[in-house]
Amino acid sequence: MSSASAAMIVPPDRLRDIVVTIFSAAGSTDREARLVADHLVEANLRGHDSHGVGMIPAYIANALDGSLVLNQTLSIAVDSGPFVICDGGSGVGQVMARDAMEAGIERAAQTGACIVGLRNSHHIGRIGHWAEQCATAGLISIHFVNVVSTPAVAPFGGTKARVGTNPFAVGIPRAGKPPIVVDFATSRLAAGKVQVALNKGVSIPEGALLDAGGHPTTDPSDLFTDPPGALVPFGEHKGWGLSVACELLGAALIGGKTQSGPKRGNGIINSMLSILVSPDRLGTRASLDDETNAFVSWVRSEATRASAILMPGDPERETRQWRKAHGIPIDARTWDEIGAAAKSVGVPRLD
Ligand code: NAD
Repeated sequence: MSSASAAMIVPPDRLRDIVVTIFSAAGSTDREARLVADHLVEANLRGHDSHGVGMIPAYIANALDGSLVLNQTLSIAVDSGPFVICDGGSGVGQVMARDAMEAGIERAAQTGACIVGLRNSHHIGRIGHWAEQCATAGLISIHFVNVVSTPAVAPFGGTKARVGTNPFAVGIPRAGKPPIVVDFATSRLAAGKVQVALNKGVSIPEGALLDAGGHPTTDPSDLFTDPPGALVPFGEHKGWGLSVACELLGAALIGGKTQSGPKRGNGIINSMLSILVSPDRLGTRASLDDETNAFVSWVRSEATRASAILMPGDPERETRQWRKAHGIPIDARTWDEIGAAAKSVGVPRLD
């Protein structure tokens, strides 16, 4: 691998302003530009650079080729009993998912639970963001997500990419403490993390990627060859099973499209099934808190300074604290690609 390209450190507020400037120039309303900026910079703050401002070039390219529809309005396809099924119309995922979650939160406040479907949205980014939105409203949430794009992950037992990295997330609010947020791709590595490694000029860990010939590789460029390589599911058949559930529940159940053939368009389309439950309405808020506290104390009882035992969501909060104070590292190649995306919509410089 070539040597790593130098990283620059950018304050989060400056990065937010840059995103707003680029999306405003592309034609987004102020609300849309701000929601994209908040989401992408939050992903960087939480250490998921794969879903941060490095997505700008793909989003802008998709806006220019029409596979991402700016200023789309979320439409409600089914509103019946516990179901709120929305269609994103290839609109900006950071707006479509926020508005779909808001609709579900409102329904769950009335009835105690809501099953929210969001189909046919452009890329909705870091799924934990949506679990955090629900947790802030006091709700637990479970999210199954599929991806329709260039297939990136081989089925367990296969060598050719057939599906996306199909993420899964759960959010559990806690009284007086930050929520537990389980949030991961069902591939051993998220595809964006392979792109980040490529941009930084570093290898990826062994056991995550096969080249186009089906041989194990640590070279991130092998995912992007023609024909492409393939990531593998995490946890062998178990991760594969969860990926299948994300594909069929996240999309097929709610009237969305599955990845059932090669890439058809340029966009990155996500569909998501979210199950929202109010512990208050269920009458278990106090026991949920007590039992969660007891459980966390127990599982962490052998933790020492040298061997921390973390809850899902802790690493992101720790990274957030550090990056909020010190800034967000952006590698030179990613910075150049963002600059080129800015120029393509008439922004001459990243000020
Ligand atoms: P990851 O492998 O970094 O795993 C993250 C999860 O593991 C988090 O819940 C984190 O808190 C937890 N975790 C990490 N280290 C831990 C530790 N030591 N102890 C306890 N818990 C720990 O995540 P990933 O698979 O690389 O996914 C990155 C992001 O990409 C996610 O936010 C995901 O939603 C997003 N994603 C989005 C799409 C999409 O199409 N929109 C597709 C794939 C992934």
